[in-house]
Amino acid sequence: MNDRRAELASNLAAVEDRITRACAAADRKREEVTLIVVTKTYPASDVRILSELGVRHVAENRDQEAGAKASDCADLPLSWHFVGQLQTNKVRSVVSYADVVQSVDRPRLVTALSKEAVRSGRELDCLVQVALDADFGEAATGVGGGEAGAAGGQGRTGARGGVTPDGIEELASLIDAAEGLRLGGLMTVAPLTGPYAGRQLAAFQRLMEFSTLVRAAHPAANMVSAGMSTDLEQAVAAGATHVRVGTAVLGVRPRLG
Ligand SMILES: *Cc1c(COP(=O)(O)O)cnc(C)c1O
Repeated sequence: MNDRRAELASNLAAVEDRITRACAAADRKREEVTLIVVTKTYPASDVRILSELGVRHVAENRDQEAGAKASDCADLPLSWHFVGQLQTNKVRSVVSYADVVQSVDRPRLVTALSKEAVRSGRELDCLVQVALDADFGEAATGVGGGEAGAAGGQGRTGARGGVTPDGIEELASLIDAAEGLRLGGLMTVAPLTGPYAGRQLAAFQRLMEFSTLVRAAHPAANMVSAGMSTDLEQAVAAGATHVRVGTAVLGVRPRLG
């Protein structure tokens, strides 16, 4: 455990240094960027150490794992972010521990999140997850499975979750109007396919353009969540307010997650 603590402390310091340098390079203040440590696949004991080391935001992408971990760590002063593709039958559980849901990508999810937030008397921050693997107006490649996109109309779901850009404003307005939900802003994962594949800076700059449009109608929705272990510098350069870092803090995950 002490070894693990030393390892996490050292990794965290290295990530902190990268964020600080990226902020300086972009002429931004360090306080403008919030580090979210993505703890998926790692145990609650790691979350506890991270909390002791000063981490205040953690993220998870699978409800079953996240629910158990969040209840193990309920005594810690942490904000829990849900960043995975979310099916409506998991919404009740996710709302019971999440402070922020970053992966809102269809109207039906807004309805379900709102209903559960109201039922449990919680206020939930929601981000619209934007899929940049298809360009504006084009059909999304590899449309996500399950109920994704079932509502029809604007905004299909991309391969890694997220709504296509033509669906952003509809979702933002729905969240803004929904009881129990606050519109936080936008989130993206750098796309592996399409016009932005391998162009993280351009992808994150595109997300910032969409954020500017959203903020024109919803001024408080100023969160921009972008950047992971390999591309946090590009995200900070583009103007992200939140970076989601897993591997660089916790190590290479033992399995896909
Ligand atoms: C796993 C994950 C991350 C962190 O990825 P790393 O490459 O391990 O830093 C960030 N965002 C989402 C949505 C994830 O699922």
